[in-house]
Amino acid sequence: MENLSVVLYKRREEKPKCDIVLENRPIKEPGEGEVVIRMHSVGICGSDVHYWINGRIGDFVVDDPMVIGHEASGTVEKCGKNVSHLKPGDRVAIEPGYPLVNDDFSKSGRYNLSPVYFCATPPDHGNLQRFYTHNADYCFKLPDNVTFEEGALIEPLSVGIHACRRAGIDLGQKVLICGAGPIGLVSLIIAKAMGAASVVITDLFENRLEKAKELGADFTIQIVRGESPQDTAKRIEKVLGGMPDRTIECTGAESAIQTGIYATKSGGCLLLVGMGPEKVSVPLVNAAVREVDIKGVFRYCNTWPTAISMLASGQINVKPLVTHRFPIEKSQEAFEHTRDSKGIKVMLKCDPNDQNP
Ligand code: NAD
Ligand code: ZN
Repeated sequence: MENLSVVLYKRREEKPKCDIVLENRPIKEPGEGEVVIRMHSVGICGSDVHYWINGRIGDFVVDDPMVIGHEASGTVEKCGKNVSHLKPGDRVAIEPGYPLVNDDFSKSGRYNLSPVYFCATPPDHGNLQRFYTHNADYCFKLPDNVTFEEGALIEPLSVGIHACRRAGIDLGQKVLICGAGPIGLVSLIIAKAMGAASVVITDLFENRLEKAKELGADFTIQIVRGESPQDTAKRIEKVLGGMPDRTIECTGAESAIQTGIYATKSGGCLLLVGMGPEKVSVPLVNAAVREVDIKGVFRYCNTWPTAISMLASGQINVKPLVTHRFPIEKSQEAFEHTRDSKGIKVMLKCDPNDQNP
């Protein structure tokens, strides 16, 4: 059976360091506890583009050819031994990371902190292909009223759920979200659903702020380059009618992290999602003496069941996030769209017989 796959090959010293190659790869027979999935929709993430352009993220280097893609959904094609909760024909969303050992983190439910297999993080292959084989325990059955694209969007949505949980978003709060990229936007959707009373979101670009308004932002602030973080913090306080109880930083930019500290109310929390340079300069004492807790996140854990119930019940609507669709054969073009920040989420359609949402 044909298994068209999108593979990064690191070939050059100059950027982009990798070639995006379409090739046929063998379908991996399902081992015990595994399922083969006929892939349907795969979203492109900033990290996928980063691997293509730079050939690495931190210590993770694309040395050998790697299938890309990790925001995905599809239909179970075949089950390995001892898979009881899924059967061929079930529509599923794929959680791309699963723990490889049952260590203390894993036992206590924080399996994102264990050594993991993670789709499209070298050396682990991703799932932008016609058929992909995965750990069945990390494939979640989708109800009939949840589309494949919503299923694929559970991956970025999970980052928002985990971030809002760790930030302690609660009823009636004022919330600041820095950055209106896909991650800032999913954090906005989840913060509103968790009861935030007013959310202000910032970005450099007007079109991203327009999308944020469409998705329920109460206020938007366009960041002016060169403005001091203290002055931006004052503008934030003014539009919210008070300082934000919680800030979710989704840019990684040094100036936004600084703004996050100055803006957050004493006793509140600044949650760092964005990943920028390894070392950043921040007004740490300002946070310390005002008991502003600074926390980080690493991906997510225990979010797929939550996301599926929220989507199935209609509590949240993520459909407006998808702005472009391409068949898998046009992956190169799709990656260029994401690189050039055209729209928000680009979806690749892997099933030649079903390119529907
Ligand atoms: P993105 O690049 O699409 O969005 C970032 C947005 O921030 C852009 O719209 C940009 O215009 C805006 N921005 C840049 N500088 C700004 C500033 N100073 N003030 C306000 N807005 C500014 O990226 P994304 O896919 O939305 O991801 C956001 C960040 O989250 C990235 O750094 C990514 O690496 C990180 N991330 C972290 C995790 C994790 O587990 N910690 C998971 C996923 C993504
Ligand atoms: Zn991603």
